[in-house]
Amino acid sequence: MTLASSSIDQATFHNSFVEELRGEPAGDNRPRQVPGYAYSRVTPTPVHDPHLLAWSDELAALLGLARPAERGPAVDVLAGNRLAPTMQPFAARYGGHQFGSWAGQLGDGRAISLGELAATDGTRWEIQLKGAGLTPYSRRADGRAVLRSSLREFLCSEAMHYLGVPTTRALSLVATGEQVVRDMFYNGNPQPEPGAVVARVAPTFVRFGSFQIFTANGEIDNLRALADYVIRRHYPELGEPSPAVYVRWFEEVCRRTAVLVAHWMTVGFVHGVLNTDNMSILGLTIDYGPYGWLEPYEPDWTPNTTDFATHRYAFGQQPRVGMWNLMMLAQALIPLVADVQELRPGLDLYAATYSKTYHMRLRQKLGLTAGPAPREDDQALLTDLDAALTAAQADMTRFFRQLAHAVPSLKDAADREEATLQELLADVSYTTEADAHEPLLTWLRRYAQRLRQEPTPAGIIRQTMLAVNPKYVLRNYLAAQAIEGAEAGDLTFLNRLMQVLKTPFAEQPEHDELAAKPPEWAREKPGCATLSCSS
Ligand code: AMP
Ligand code: MG
Repeated sequence: MTLASSSIDQATFHNSFVEELRGEPAGDNRPRQVPGYAYSRVTPTPVHDPHLLAWSDELAALLGLARPAERGPAVDVLAGNRLAPTMQPFAARYGGHQFGSWAGQLGDGRAISLGELAATDGTRWEIQLKGAGLTPYSRRADGRAVLRSSLREFLCSEAMHYLGVPTTRALSLVATGEQVVRDMFYNGNPQPEPGAVVARVAPTFVRFGSFQIFTANGEIDNLRALADYVIRRHYPELGEPSPAVYVRWFEEVCRRTAVLVAHWMTVGFVHGVLNTDNMSILGLTIDYGPYGWLEPYEPDWTPNTTDFATHRYAFGQQPRVGMWNLMMLAQALIPLVADVQELRPGLDLYAATYSKTYHMRLRQKLGLTAGPAPREDDQALLTDLDAALTAAQADMTRFFRQLAHAVPSLKDAADREEATLQELLADVSYTTEADAHEPLLTWLRRYAQRLRQEPTPAGIIRQTMLAVNPKYVLRNYLAAQAIEGAEAGDLTFLNRLMQVLKTPFAEQPEHDELAAKPPEWAREKPGCATLSCSS
């Protein structure tokens, strides 16, 4: 059955989270501990003048929703100014480890879930407004979000989806017509900034921290109820919940998390704040804050100024942090299993799946099929790339993309090899020092030799590489330009970026400049090179 597109204010919402878990009735939104409950019923706080800035047509089509006018009842819903009759909005309670320390109760301090919509394919999607006002979990903050960070979340979650990286989605970006005060640089200079609300979409927003809070507080009934909810609704293939099924479910969470982190590591994404409250139980990228994309390849790089002292969440730390976070989840699940040792295989599976997936994806990026080279030689080639890219300060995205283009000459024109390599290095490196280029040059010569052993024709290798190495990613300086435009009321650049990032593997030569290395002005500029958590 094909359903005609409807307006979100007319849509029918389902409320499984509210119906199946224990929640606190709507009360006041004073910040407080909420022991004994999985969520609090809340109502979004209306904003002054909601108007639509951006809309995800493809996601909307999946949800059977029509693009709304700039102002009107649908946009009122997407800003929290109006509720559809079937909605039972709530803020979820969760806890988490922040930068390695247990932080106790956190919860949806500014995110309010409206309920679930059934998509045209029968799947169900929770719709959540981020920046919709105070909840009992707002602690000392205001429940709001600024346009700058909302636009970054909107753009990046959709861009990640089109890159094939598991992620929460974003349906709309709505300006509130209100100002929000933020100390962007944490330097004692709070400034008013335009506010916004993003409608985020995912099968569920349950996090590792959602389980941790219950175990930490000895609420084992709530712990089991949440695990059962997640398994029945989101892992039905595992069967009816039981101690053995909890173990298999944990293994599946470990497996998905490993695949997720392997994606990040092969696309150059740095999440920036991998606290356990920012880890999705479905293995999705969740909570886009001070994230960034590697430009000069550097394992120790983080865009998050709040993490400059420790680099805990730097690019190269992400695989280890994934493991640490899963260990924290395992601890939270101990009350559900017969023997804590049963959770060990899940952690081993994480390590094995990560390594396997990462190397498989890297081989694809390099266009290496099951050629005649001994596997150990290939393995050394893969392992040595990391240090060579780091030394050369190679732009990660451009390196793999330009390498694909270089394949035909590297494979079939050995006499032009040196010229090709010099050209490639000049294109991708952020330094002109010959010493810095040397390790990558050496690596590339080995790679060219290996390529010549590939049985597949160069043109086909090039094509397969172009299909897995994106040309366009949401470089921070591009997001910064979209923000600057949007804050001045000009959505041209935002719209253009949205469009280009829908087909990141396509050449789109008319948009070449959006694949360029950051210009000089963006190298050190806050909001381009680095970001704070202040959002
Ligand atoms: P995050 O750093 O976005 O993962 O947020 C960590 C915690 O702080 C979560 O519980 C958020 O809900 C809460 N939080 C962050 N910003 C705000 C805000 N402006 N208002 C209320 N709560 C917030
Ligand atoms: Mg968070």
